[in-house]
Amino acid sequence: MRKPFIAGNWKMNMDSASAVSLAQGLVNEVGQCDGIDVAVCPPFVYLPAVATALSSSNISLGAQDVSEQANGAFTGEISCAMLKDVCCTYVIIGHSERRHVIGEKDELINKKIVAAINGGLLPIFCVGELLAERQANKTTTVVAEQVKKGLAGICSERIQAVTIAYEPVWAIGTGINATSEQAQEVHAMIRGLIGKLYDKTIASQMRIQYGGSAKPSNTAELMSQPDVDGLLVGGASLKVADFAAMVKTSFETKGVK
Ligand code: PEP
Repeated sequence: MRKPFIAGNWKMNMDSASAVSLAQGLVNEVGQCDGIDVAVCPPFVYLPAVATALSSSNISLGAQDVSEQANGAFTGEISCAMLKDVCCTYVIIGHSERRHVIGEKDELINKKIVAAINGGLLPIFCVGELLAERQANKTTTVVAEQVKKGLAGICSERIQAVTIAYEPVWAIGTGINATSEQAQEVHAMIRGLIGKLYDKTIASQMRIQYGGSAKPSNTAELMSQPDVDGLLVGGASLKVADFAAMVKTSFETKGVK
C-alpha cells in the first residue's frame, strides 16, 4: 500500500509573514494528519521560518530546487547540505518552470536528483509533456524519455527515495487539469516503465503524484485513480482552506488507515 503524498509548491510567492501564517494555518488544519504524507515547499529564504512554524507538526518541509554541486563558487546556488541544514526533507527537481522557463535539461536534472539522494534529501522528480507534444501523440515518448534520463544511473537501493510527479505542462497554472483518465494513463505508463527499469516491487512502491490545476473540486476524482498516489499542488497550496481540504479528501480517498 502506497502512502498518499500531497505537496504544496509555493513557487515565488509569499513574504515572511504570509509564509509563516500559511504554515501555521496548515498546522492547525492538517498538522497532525497520519496515514498521509504532507509537505510544503516555500521559497528558499522562508525555509527556516516555515521550518519553525511546522516544527510541532507532521508536515514536512521541501525546497523548490537544489544545486547539483556540493559547494564552492556557484553564485546564487543552494546546496543539498544547506537544505538539510534548514530541515528540508524533500526537494522538487525538474519542475516544468525550471525546464521550460530557466532551460534545465534532463542531464542536469539527473545530476540534481543524484546529488539530492546522496545528500539525504527525497527528490520530487517532475516530468510532463507540452500541449503540442500531447496533440502530436508524443506524451508517452516524451515522458518516458524524461523518466529514463532523469533516473539514469540511480540504482535499485536508492530509487526508493524518489517520488515522481507527472505534471502535464499545459495543465500547470492554467485551470485546465488533466482528466483523471489522462492522468491514470500516464501514471500507469510511468509505473510500467519503472517496472522495466527496476523491478515490479519497486514499481509497486513508487509514489507518483499528479500536478496541474489540482484543486479541492477535482481531488477526489484524481486521487481515486489506482496509480495516482498524491498531488503536487501549485496555486491551491497558497490557501489554507483549499490545501487542507485537498489533504483531507486525499486521505478519505486513499489514506493509509
Ligand atoms: C505546479 O506548479 O507544480 C502546479 C501543479 O501548479 P498548479 O497547481 O497551480 O497548476
